[in-house]
Amino acid sequence: MSPAQRLHIPSDRVERLHYIKRIFSDAQGAGLGPEWAGGRLSAQKKLNSIDVVAYARNHNFLNGAVTHLSPYLRHGCLSLNEAFSSIKNRFGLEAETLLTALAWRDYWRQVWYEKGDAIYSEIEPPKVAIGYAPLSDAIVQGKTGLPCMDAFVNDLLTTGYVHHHARMWLASYIVHHLKMDWRAAADWFEHHLLDGDIASNHLSWQWVASTFSSKPYYFNKENLGRYTGERYCANCKAICPFDDSYEALSERLFNQTLAPNAKQYPIKLLPMRAPSSFKTIAIYVHDEMLSAAHDLFKRPFPKFFVFDPQLYGHWSLNRLQFVADCLSEMDGVEVWLGDTCEVLMSRGVGQVITQDTPNRKIKALLAPFAPKWQPEAQLVDVKISTKRLKRFSRYWEKVGPLVLGS
Ligand SMILES: Cc1cc2nc3c(=O)[nH]c(=O)nc-3n(C[C@H](O)[C@H](O)[C@H](O)COP(=O)(O)OP(=O)(O)OC[C@H]3O[C@@H](n4cnc5c(N)ncnc54)[C@H](O)[C@@H]3O)c2cc1C
Repeated sequence: MSPAQRLHIPSDRVERLHYIKRIFSDAQGAGLGPEWAGGRLSAQKKLNSIDVVAYARNHNFLNGAVTHLSPYLRHGCLSLNEAFSSIKNRFGLEAETLLTALAWRDYWRQVWYEKGDAIYSEIEPPKVAIGYAPLSDAIVQGKTGLPCMDAFVNDLLTTGYVHHHARMWLASYIVHHLKMDWRAAADWFEHHLLDGDIASNHLSWQWVASTFSSKPYYFNKENLGRYTGERYCANCKAICPFDDSYEALSERLFNQTLAPNAKQYPIKLLPMRAPSSFKTIAIYVHDEMLSAAHDLFKRPFPKFFVFDPQLYGHWSLNRLQFVADCLSEMDGVEVWLGDTCEVLMSRGVGQVITQDTPNRKIKALLAPFAPKWQPEAQLVDVKISTKRLKRFSRYWEKVGPLVLGS
């Protein structure tokens, strides 16, 4: 790894993009437009412009009134509790559909806390035959010849945002039609999605694949045509692999035997480092707490964010730009590029205070600095049993009445 380097994130957004492109010259992507500017100010604008009635009516449609809040929640520009309370206080139970959607994020995250790195591998045996072929170039370049799937890949690569329904269709196509390895596909998504989040992402792939659900997710042409307003089907010349009844699709996709794959997904462990002997206490800012309004920022300690290649080396340029946007609003945070341990030691840090996270890589990086983890708020402040975390419906049976007050 090259020596650590202090970064000075420009306040002007155009300059910032040039700077990020120069610093991360190997990162894939062209950069984000103003509609996806990172940071708390943009997050609040999005939160203030939601339409909960339209959301309930049409969020499953590609042109529905979805909120685009996920990248901001993912990076802590807004906390989940803050967004949830703001929506509930403004709209009450009229917002139930959206509040339930937000609860999925809490649920997946609690599963991550509970299971740790095990979520990278299959949690349950698949309920149907799935395959483990590597991701093809046609998929990662969006050149399958199917206008719908290629458009979803294009969204992923150019904006880093893909509508929920399109994520489900694309994931189902990759896992059940092409029999590719969901774990490689989940990693690929995570590299590009602005909201790329190990829990919501990897567990959603497992939900589609049926390794964390009771059945596989699949769809037909009629379903895709309905929720896309036929925008891809109308002029499509391809032989449609989805143009069938659910019974026929099930027969075609699942009635085959594939070699089981019992392998654990390899997780690269980070090397153990000796404890720091320095004295300075610092706030370590990680990628889930990118808001100047964070409680910890009131503490009178130096604050550090490190673009550590061990955490972010695989991220697209769009993701890195989004983070830089967030950091540009956070005065007083020293931003570095390099090895976290080297940076913190070079600044005399012996102890860090930071927000808790289920991310074991962050925990491993901070181990030498006697980390103190500030608890992260969950939607309800009660311990949810492991049994309830087996399925969202069980979790929601318990949490729904507590948070909706119904
Ligand atoms: C294969 C696959 C991969 C996914 N990867 C991610 C990911 O990396 N990060 C991520 O945040 N979400 C992920 N999701 C969940 C969901 O697609 C996105 O949260 C949602 O599309 C974000 O867009 P939005 O903010 O406009 O959503 P909205 O529909 O406006 O929902 C509002 C908020 O509710 C939460 N939410 C809604 N649905 C879900 C869900 N099923 N799971 C978790 N949270 C949900 C999100 O925080 C979202 O911002 C994935 C889903 C699938 C099927």
